[in-house]
Amino acid sequence: MIDFHCHLDLYPNPQRVASLCHEAGVYVLSVTTTPSAWRGTSALAEKYSRIKTALGLHPEIAHERKNEVEIFSELLPQVKYVGEVGLDGSPALKQYTRIQRGVFESILKMISSSGGRIMSIHSRRAATEVLDLLEKYPDSGIPVLHWFSGSQRELTRAINIGCWFSVGPAMLRSKQGCELVKLMPRDRVLTESDGPFVNCGNKVCTPLDTSSLIYELSNIWFSKESEVSNQIIDNFKRLVSSF
Ligand code: MN
Repeated sequence: MIDFHCHLDLYPNPQRVASLCHEAGVYVLSVTTTPSAWRGTSALAEKYSRIKTALGLHPEIAHERKNEVEIFSELLPQVKYVGEVGLDGSPALKQYTRIQRGVFESILKMISSSGGRIMSIHSRRAATEVLDLLEKYPDSGIPVLHWFSGSQRELTRAINIGCWFSVGPAMLRSKQGCELVKLMPRDRVLTESDGPFVNCGNKVCTPLDTSSLIYELSNIWFSKESEVSNQIIDNFKRLVSSF
């Protein structure tokens, strides 16, 4: 199982979720929403080699945490993965568009000048703006668009500039989401839970729930579950060894 976007530190009992992931052998990219949360969150994964911690500054709180860009730059040399970063164009956040853009752009600039990173990227209602910036900083590494919800045109553009995609339960529950997944190159798709922000049944999703995504992808791709599972594992190995 692979969960390429999970907020491990935001579960009520992160230690327990981390140890369950370890027991089940799940590979987890544990993303953070603030640079100041990175140390504590990576401490959760200390004992577990399959859990990697990404350094992030979430666009929804960029206006509150813009001063932490400095902490981001201090920690960047230690990390292989960046996330969650990006832009969010939801109506409630419109007033912070410039701040979000400033934060995301300074992050991309830093990453570009330090060899690039694998990045888990948020692009809700801002796919075009995110792609504009990714194009502006082609040396920033490999963007993995998490829970992509843009248009098919934006998806085509994302594919053309080399983006990868992590798809989760909420995306596969929506018809639009499934249509997008159909158009994604299979060799650039990973699974994610985005827990604890997404529900699976009547409980909060955990990385262990990514196993059910294999079945859903097998329906979308008209493939056997074993083939889908191998594809996702191959993709994951290729991605993490590319940096
Ligand atoms: Mn998230």
